[in-house]
Amino acid sequence: MENILEKTTTENLLSNRVKAMEASATLAMAAKSRELKAKGIDVIALSLGEPDFDTPEHIKQAAKEAIDANYSHYTPVPGYLDLREAISNKFKRDNNLDYSPEQIVTSTGAKQTLANLMMCLLNEGDEAIMPVPYWVSYAAQIKLAGGKVIEISTNIDTDFKCTAEQLEAVITDRSKIFLFSSPCNPSGSVYTKEELEALVGVLKKYPKITIISDEIYEHINFTDKHASIGCFEAVKDRVVTVNGLSKGFAMTGWRLGYMGAPLWLAKACGKIQGQFTSATCSITQRAAIAALGDYLEPTYKMKDEFAKRKKLVHGKLNEIEGLKVNDPQGAFYFFPDASSFIGKSTPAGEVINDMDELCMHILNEGHVAVVTGSAFGIKECFRISYAMSEEVLTEAMRRLKACLEALS
Ligand code: PMP
Ligand code: GLU
Repeated sequence: MENILEKTTTENLLSNRVKAMEASATLAMAAKSRELKAKGIDVIALSLGEPDFDTPEHIKQAAKEAIDANYSHYTPVPGYLDLREAISNKFKRDNNLDYSPEQIVTSTGAKQTLANLMMCLLNEGDEAIMPVPYWVSYAAQIKLAGGKVIEISTNIDTDFKCTAEQLEAVITDRSKIFLFSSPCNPSGSVYTKEELEALVGVLKKYPKITIISDEIYEHINFTDKHASIGCFEAVKDRVVTVNGLSKGFAMTGWRLGYMGAPLWLAKACGKIQGQFTSATCSITQRAAIAALGDYLEPTYKMKDEFAKRKKLVHGKLNEIEGLKVNDPQGAFYFFPDASSFIGKSTPAGEVINDMDELCMHILNEGHVAVVTGSAFGIKECFRISYAMSEEVLTEAMRRLKACLEALS
């Protein structure tokens, strides 16, 4: 008898779903720089969007107390009620948003919050509209859920922001989601209240569209005027506001993201999460209550530090011949247009054909890890995360300049 297993490669044991999926480019680049570092190469990794600061003391203390108080059991799927009350208060205090605790679901990072949403909202062929550039995992999650990514193009000259006219032009009968981040990963752009109002002017005409506003960089906003689209009366009953502790509180490893959503959608996300992860970590949830309280001094200090670093990197990038740079108003990224380097040759005589190759060249020869813009939907740019000390950033910018200016 034919041995079927002999013919089976491990590759075709995998589902089509995962085969069609791209791995996270940000995590992949971070893994590559770790590999080079393990070989003894001194790589500066500006690839991962992760604060280099330690988690503030009062939050760590709350976690230690939670361990001692035996918070070691399964929690309610959407999170402890007192945590959801704290989030409800935070939404009111900081964003003037009204979400009751029943409308709040906490998850294993905002990444899971977003994945829950895609799974709950999208049927095969439904359309999710996003301004490009967008954060790397949005597109992968939308496609995994069967949805179709509809892009609105922007560029550095429009500060990577989309207009109401552009949005209206791509809306169809299949439009289900409008998703954006402000401050934006990867561009650092911040939508003003007036710009959001213009988008609302369009969205209010299309009640089938759920608006997902990713505000995870809320606290890293150099304009000091964070605006939430959920504040607008005309659309507030179908805005999902996504946030989390990773960026503003330097808690990437703790894994807590959350959302305020219409009740029907919060219930659906709870249902799906109940089958996937049950809930996020009990200790993290107790620590989150401390993080979301009124003591925000450590967060403000981190923001001030990011502002200094931004100024430093902005100055250095502007000195690199051929790079087009803007002045991002939030998050901790630069997203320069490096298209003038495509088609140039390396000192070894190899032609750089696209942004992926340019980023690999910067990694292998310049020993600086950045992320190609194609992962975020724009192939003219690359992303630099400046969540590093000024000393490290100065050296990284020196290397980047030398590496780029050596291309001819
Ligand atoms: N949204 C954006 C825009 C991000 O940059 C990130 C990066 N971590 C996330 C969501 C997910 O964050 P986390 O899962 O760490 O809460
Ligand atoms: N959000 C961060 C980034 O964009 C972390 C990496 C990730 O979660 O993919 O780099």
